[in-house]
Amino acid sequence: MIVTDRSTIAASGCDTNGRLAVHELSICASMADIVRRHADGRRVLSVQVRVGQLRQVVPEALSFCWTAVNQQTPLMDTTLDIEYIPGEIECGACQGRQVLADPFLCCPSCGSTDVSVVAGEEFLITSIDLADPGEATEG
Ligand SMILES: [Zn+2]
Repeated sequence: MIVTDRSTIAASGCDTNGRLAVHELSICASMADIVRRHADGRRVLSVQVRVGQLRQVVPEALSFCWTAVNQQTPLMDTTLDIEYIPGEIECGACQGRQVLADPFLCCPSCGSTDVSVVAGEEFLITSIDLADPGEATEG
């Protein structure tokens, strides 16, 4: 499997090649693992995740893959709430701090690629809503 990280993007300048659908699938599979462990047999109503734009994850693809990996499992009715965080950089050339309109690591105002990422690389599960223990569990 090919893993694209920020260093390969930076090395290729303003390029977005290397996106793969398996990326979202494997992310969803590991998220489902984490959620199942936390739920400990309880029904999961929804899962909130925070995804940075620079993680090269497409929110629609993430929702789709979440449904796909959880087919026929206790998580099949679980909603995935995605909070999408725009990429933000600090430019080493013009010292500006900019929110990126596109997931390209260069400064929108001066075009320099001498930038540091200050936001947009998040990927975390922020909360998991569980059903009350009294409620019926899966099955
Ligand atoms: Zn700049």
